[in-house]
Amino acid sequence: MNERYDAIIVGVGGMGSATAWQLARRGKKVLGLEQFDIPHASGSSHGINRIIRLAYYEDPRYVPLLKRAYELWRELEAACGEQILHITGSIDASQPDGLVFSGALESCKLHGLTHEVLTSAELTQRFPGYRLPADHLALYQEEGGFLLSERSIIQHVELAIALGAEIHGREEVLDWTSSANGLSVRTTRGVYQTEKLIFTAGAWMGTLVDELGPLLRPERQVLAWLQPLEPELFTPQTFPVFNLTVPEGRYYGFPVYGNPGFKIGRYHHLDETIDPDQPLRLPDAVDEEILRAFVGRYTPAANGPVLALRTCIFTNSPDEHFIIDTLPGDDRVILASPCSGHGYKFCSVVGEIVADLAIEGSTRHDISLFRLDRFRA
Ligand SMILES: Cc1cc2nc3c(=O)[nH]c(=O)nc-3n(C[C@H](O)[C@H](O)[C@H](O)COP(=O)(O)OP(=O)(O)OC[C@H]3O[C@@H](n4cnc5c(N)ncnc54)[C@H](O)[C@@H]3O)c2cc1C
Repeated sequence: MNERYDAIIVGVGGMGSATAWQLARRGKKVLGLEQFDIPHASGSSHGINRIIRLAYYEDPRYVPLLKRAYELWRELEAACGEQILHITGSIDASQPDGLVFSGALESCKLHGLTHEVLTSAELTQRFPGYRLPADHLALYQEEGGFLLSERSIIQHVELAIALGAEIHGREEVLDWTSSANGLSVRTTRGVYQTEKLIFTAGAWMGTLVDELGPLLRPERQVLAWLQPLEPELFTPQTFPVFNLTVPEGRYYGFPVYGNPGFKIGRYHHLDETIDPDQPLRLPDAVDEEILRAFVGRYTPAANGPVLALRTCIFTNSPDEHFIIDTLPGDDRVILASPCSGHGYKFCSVVGEIVADLAIEGSTRHDISLFRLDRFRA
């Protein structure tokens, strides 16, 4: 095999699948290469769903991207005929001067987002599943919700294939070379030539691209699904998705949907750096206890028997902002590593940005926050 493509995408997970659709929509000859199945449960995008929220406490500069991400999620739904985005409202809560509450409030004020500030007692009155410490404040934003992450990979891939993209599962990229004549990719099944090479390889970005190795830290995460004792308090209609900082750490959670049980996770669960090529340690009683301790105190009516525990991978950058840039010295190679535990909601707009970079060499979106050279001394 020695075919030539406009763009090869390495990694067909959340970001790669969205990128494949955006490039195929613009008439490009695309090849997407995925080492595992499509979809699979060994990367960063499995586990039914991911939170999307506009009141972005991490940095208000994400908000314009989020607005475009919402539009593109709706475009995906229109194109595939399936609901991918579910609106529940979102809660961002912490002590008043904590990042989660104060950052969410700042984003709302700067970008004119509808929001309500609730005391702990008001939160419980409105959404009785919550029992936060009395000194915490909650920001409610009505457009928050969740995305069906595995379904969106499937739909992005189906749409890309329908437009002529080639997508190969179970084909690992072994290495790649760059010369004045072009870019070449060697896989477990063949060798391919391409004009543009796009890396959306999640936890494996650091092994495929030397420049990223020292920067990115793959980390084991654990999700739990617990059977609510009062199920009516944890439906998508009665329980908004949340990000909460409490003395035990920063947690996120979802109403019951798509898998039995109330879904809960803690950011940087045990702070365990991993090698993505080694099997992840199976979840155990210690993992469960970390998550159950939160549920018992702050959402006690959800503290029933465990129904499922699953692992997943964060790929952390040093400042927990994304890396979306071209490779230094070779703008034919595009790097997209939007994770640090909060990237999924951006897949739709990252697909558009990466397609812009591949086709136009630039994008109208402000991606200065994600430049690689911010890490140079
Ligand atoms: C537990 C957990 C909860 C999260 N919660 C949220 C949330 O609520 N909201 C939110 O916005 N974000 C959340 N995130 C973050 C979000 O899920 C990630 O940012 C997103 O999934 C990253 O997508 P990706 O495409 O970079 O990675 P992936 O979807 O993992 O895709 C990368 C793909 O590249 C493939 N690949 C790697 N190397 C090769 C190779 N050599 N050859 C071929 N293929 C290769 C991999 O197999 C993989 O399929 C969460 C993450 C985790 C783990």
